[in-house]
Amino acid sequence: MKLLTEHECADTSVTLCRSCDLVIRKRALPSSVRALCPRCHTPIYDAPYCSLNGMLALCLTAIIFFIPANLLPVLELHFLGSIRTTTISEGAMAVANQGYWVVAIAVLTSAVIAPGLLLLSVLSQILIIKYRLQVPFFRDILKRLLKYHGLLSQLTMLEIYMISIFVSVFQLTDYTDIYLGMGTFCFAMLFLVTLFLQREYHLEHMWSVLDD
Ligand SMILES: [Zn+2]
Repeated sequence: MKLLTEHECADTSVTLCRSCDLVIRKRALPSSVRALCPRCHTPIYDAPYCSLNGMLALCLTAIIFFIPANLLPVLELHFLGSIRTTTISEGAMAVANQGYWVVAIAVLTSAVIAPGLLLLSVLSQILIIKYRLQVPFFRDILKRLLKYHGLLSQLTMLEIYMISIFVSVFQLTDYTDIYLGMGTFCFAMLFLVTLFLQREYHLEHMWSVLDD
């Protein structure tokens, strides 16, 4: 027996109002129009829409920031004359050397590998939809990328590292001098651009491109 994926088995024609539970039959909406509940006027759904060119620009920007964000130090500590810098990967290696290799793998996965794969996946999806959607081989690749998109975006947790950078700055600033350099700036920009990219991206809409 073949298990249906969430995408295949969800009945997309009917939805419930979030605040009054009224059953509403969905209809196709023109883009940038929002459907309201006829009883309580709560917004129910928007027409799923993503601007391919906008996403392409965000995606390329994120990839440009991804490289220095991972190669340049995100924190630079000056303590009693000694200077210490660390990149995300060096931090993970330091943790692994102390025996916490599970933590190191988690750090590398959620801050380096998953965001990198996510950006490459979105870039390939956009390029396939823009230029190669008619070729069966590329449609197949697109289908696979869409299938794993949810997993990749769940594994991407750049915000946790932004928070930890802030926490270390606040905690260590009494003891040492902390300098935030180009690496910190690139990491913060990578975080922001990826955030906007994920906001612009609608998985539902990408699947519908494939169905057309
Ligand atoms: Zn309602």
